[in-house]
Amino acid sequence: MTRYIFVTGGVVSSLGKGIISSSIGKLLQARGYSITIQKFDPYINIDPGTLNPYEHGECYVTVDGMETDLDLGHYERFTGIHTTRENSITTGRIYKTVIDRERRGDYLGKTIQVVPHITDEIKRRMLRTDGTEEGESRLPDFVITEVGGTIGDIESAPFMEAIRQLRWELGKRAVCVHLTYVPYLKAADELKTKPTQHSVKELQGMGIQPDVLILRTEKHLSDGVRQKVASFCNVDLECVVQSEDLPSIYEVPVNMQRQGLDAALLRKFGIPVGETPKMEPWHRFLALSKSATKEVNIGLVGKYDLQDAYKSIRESLALAGVYNGVKVKLKFINSETLDASTFDWSQVGGVVICPGFGQRGIEGKIDALKYCREHNVPTFGICLGMQMMVIEFARDVLGYKDANSAEMDPNTAHNVIDIMEEQKTVTQKGGTMRLGAYDCKLREGSRVRQIYGEELIRERHRHRYEFNDKYLGEYEEKGMQCVGRNPESGLVEIVEIPGLRWFIGTQFHPEYSSTVLNPHPLFMDFIKTIIDE
Ligand code: GLN
Repeated sequence: MTRYIFVTGGVVSSLGKGIISSSIGKLLQARGYSITIQKFDPYINIDPGTLNPYEHGECYVTVDGMETDLDLGHYERFTGIHTTRENSITTGRIYKTVIDRERRGDYLGKTIQVVPHITDEIKRRMLRTDGTEEGESRLPDFVITEVGGTIGDIESAPFMEAIRQLRWELGKRAVCVHLTYVPYLKAADELKTKPTQHSVKELQGMGIQPDVLILRTEKHLSDGVRQKVASFCNVDLECVVQSEDLPSIYEVPVNMQRQGLDAALLRKFGIPVGETPKMEPWHRFLALSKSATKEVNIGLVGKYDLQDAYKSIRESLALAGVYNGVKVKLKFINSETLDASTFDWSQVGGVVICPGFGQRGIEGKIDALKYCREHNVPTFGICLGMQMMVIEFARDVLGYKDANSAEMDPNTAHNVIDIMEEQKTVTQKGGTMRLGAYDCKLREGSRVRQIYGEELIRERHRHRYEFNDKYLGEYEEKGMQCVGRNPESGLVEIVEIPGLRWFIGTQFHPEYSSTVLNPHPLFMDFIKTIIDE
């Protein structure tokens, strides 16, 4: 019997609903339950694949090739689950399904309305009962549904109505968790609960009584404050939990467990609570991250000067640092303004050349790569970063001064990075890249073969362009090896320069599959190489 947890947010955005949803998932898993976490976003785009990272941060990619919200990265890193295209839904997708159905004639004779047609489609997806669509053999014990946006937004109203109906229909099988903010007013030296009261009133106005309130706060809340919120909002005191700012997001599950959030949820569902799980591997990870003193500086060469744009890469590097016993300090290097000849490269022990699209900032990436290759700086090129490695090598070592990617210059004579065959006929932009997990066979004797410790790997992709096979012989002869290839198509997925300390480029995105308890081997080895001087 599947139970449903709905997570909404009020007062302001950016409270960390994704972290709370992931933490709830983690705590339930620790008690032996199976879970999934899904995100419903109220915008009209079908998926965030066509959004600029400035709008919505990184675009995360699932194994089955859905371009999704970056919160899915948190879900996977915290819980180790594999999300699918059914875990990331937008208003656009809901409407598209309903409108396609209408055109097919499924509703012949009927007027199609937000209630019940749109809300019914939202409910269907929230329940996930027709799980065959994503190949699920059975539903998990708990489905956690996070709704993007803030209570009161016009866009999210149909989602709230769907939750209200489901709450009514599912009875004790549904629980609503509402996240709010308790601001501290310095002049009054007081923590203010009024915004929370208003936010809950707004929810109640939509017919939803929250079962659990999680109060985000910068200062510790006294029992008195919690009691006040509990009595004004009709919520049990044990269900008013505070989420203070912590040094690391990975401490949130432990903090929630300490306050009994998971036990309170189980009681709401009428499930016997049992013993509190120890979560030893998680605690070991936290202890390791606290004990590290040595710092390692990594340069992130990219064009988006925004924390969230390279979220999974940042987290993957930090996690690999923890397991290597060091603190990773990231230094953003803007590829658009970088002057590689005057930049002080001694500030960084290793460099990551970030993924991306389009011309802006690519020359900075190429200049950085030239410096790193010539000075033997450990370098990791990811997707566009790998393509720039290939271009830089062509320009400087193979002697093709005009070498480029067909993406930046469709007429270049030396298109060492070219459009993929299957992409040539693609005209629509949304969801049409080479997306999701593909096999990659690693060459015997290569560095990556040794790092992975296996011959066949599977990694996630998001690209339209690829290494141009025509030049393969020249690259191999001059020292850049194509050591990972797709067994069916032959596409080059990994390049490396064996003589250097660490110079590896991957066409895929290893950052999407690094988790708290399973850091990715490439990131692990990259950091290890930097500290093993
Ligand atoms: N723009 C490149 C391509 O489409 C790289 C994409 C990426 O870095 N994700 O192939």
